[in-house]
Amino acid sequence: MTAHLGKMWVDPDEEVTCIACGETVAREAAREYDKHGDRWDRDDKAFEYLCTDCYEDCCHQPRDGLEATLVAADAGRTDRATFLSQYHERVLDDD
Ligand SMILES: [Zn+2]
Repeated sequence: MTAHLGKMWVDPDEEVTCIACGETVAREAAREYDKHGDRWDRDDKAFEYLCTDCYEDCCHQPRDGLEATLVAADAGRTDRATFLSQYHERVLDDD
């Protein structure tokens, strides 16, 4: 039996979950979101993903600021409208 040694890299049918909106998208269509910043150090690391829409929504600002911005805007601890207004305030303030 032939072992497909090259296949451990990427399964083209793999689906991933967007960390921002929870949508399941094809991995090929998702954007890797690596909060540790070193994309080549893959040992014991699970990548997180953003769908294209959220990537474009979230990543107009430097990626390093995303999590701090989300935390500062009370992501998950306030209702959506409040969060969004705080989030946009923070994003605008960053300039
Ligand atoms: Zn998304």
